[in-house]
Amino acid sequence: MAKRILLTGGCGYIGSHICLELIEQGYQPVVLDNLSNSSTTPLQRIEQLTGQHIPFIEGDVRDEAILDHIFSTYELSATIHLAGLKSVAESVAAPIAYYQTNFGGTVALCQAMQRHRVKHFIYSSSATVYGLTAQSPIREDAPTAPASPYGQSKLMAEIALRDIAHADPQWKIAILRYFNPVGAHACGQIGEDPCGVPNNLMPYVSQVAAGKQPKIRIFGNDYPTPDGTGMRDYLHVCDLAHAHLCALRWLDGASGAKVFNLGTGRGYSVLEIIRAYEKACGHALPFQFLPRRDGDIASYHAEPALATRELRWSATRTIEDMCRDAWNWQSRNPNGYT
Ligand code: NAD
Ligand code: UDP
Repeated sequence: MAKRILLTGGCGYIGSHICLELIEQGYQPVVLDNLSNSSTTPLQRIEQLTGQHIPFIEGDVRDEAILDHIFSTYELSATIHLAGLKSVAESVAAPIAYYQTNFGGTVALCQAMQRHRVKHFIYSSSATVYGLTAQSPIREDAPTAPASPYGQSKLMAEIALRDIAHADPQWKIAILRYFNPVGAHACGQIGEDPCGVPNNLMPYVSQVAAGKQPKIRIFGNDYPTPDGTGMRDYLHVCDLAHAHLCALRWLDGASGAKVFNLGTGRGYSVLEIIRAYEKACGHALPFQFLPRRDGDIASYHAEPALATRELRWSATRTIEDMCRDAWNWQSRNPNGYT
């Protein structure tokens, strides 16, 4: 029988890609999502693509009764936990919501898992826990110093997970620090659907390519990088989804909690992304230089060797693949899922 995996936040951008990958690899995802930043449309599309029914529970990851219901209804072997809030700017304005959902939600979920003796856990963390001074390539043992309540809430959840695994050796936990996930599944049916004006570069570039925004705003062209624009370690969302499958297999032979970076190990500048996207969409993209964005750093990228060695995972998709698939999604779904 297929192993059942609880996937929290499975209707969101990254969760929907993991959901599809789980099914393709023979697992049965059970999705919990409160739809605060998503809809069930991605799940319907994945059901159409795979011909498989996806059990879905609408609810909050902090809701004990819902969690008890899920763990007693489905025989689950592991949890992949993505449900959470993810806007740095919003977290500065509303820190309580971020600590409650991201930290409190993770603790509530572990409590329920402990009650139901399900102790394999994969956590979505973020490179943002490293803070502004980390030296690239960033290794997992680099000092953590999150610069926002969002980053703090992710790090606090990581710390709780390490303590939980330390106290009970039956827990096996993979903490995955994502660098910059971008792109979409090559089928063009699922992708990133940000509310309002996108904050992140790739969805903004997509909207300019589609004529929904007038021009790309490049925040800073005076950084100490080869072309002066900021550099990041962009990672195709399908490579990222695949890493969760590798982590699930790794958990079987693991002990304790372990942190892994998920990135390609190299950075691309804003201008390089724009050039690659222009090739993908077949036309020039207007841009303007603006001052640096508050809190941004010049450049960072991952050292992903630990994931390669232990999870037996590495990113295979190129920046051209990322831009092609982002454009395929954008052009087929000009208004996202609506
Ligand atoms: P997303 O907003 O698309 O997905 C998150 C999902 O969680 C949404 O479907 C939302 O409705 C759901 N959710 C939010 N609060 C919930 C709650 N209290 N109970 C149940 N469901 C809830 O975001 P994403 O980009 O797919 O990110 C997923 C995870 O990956 C997050 O934990 C985020 O911190 C982490 N992450 C994302 C990025 C990124 O650039 N997208 C980078 C690093 C880490
Ligand atoms: N960026 C930009 N214009 C935008 C959004 C982002 O120039 O509209 C730059 C940003 O300054 C950074 C890079 O693109 O150098 C990636 O930004 P994003 O917000 O996507 O990721 P993060 O900064 O969270 O790593």
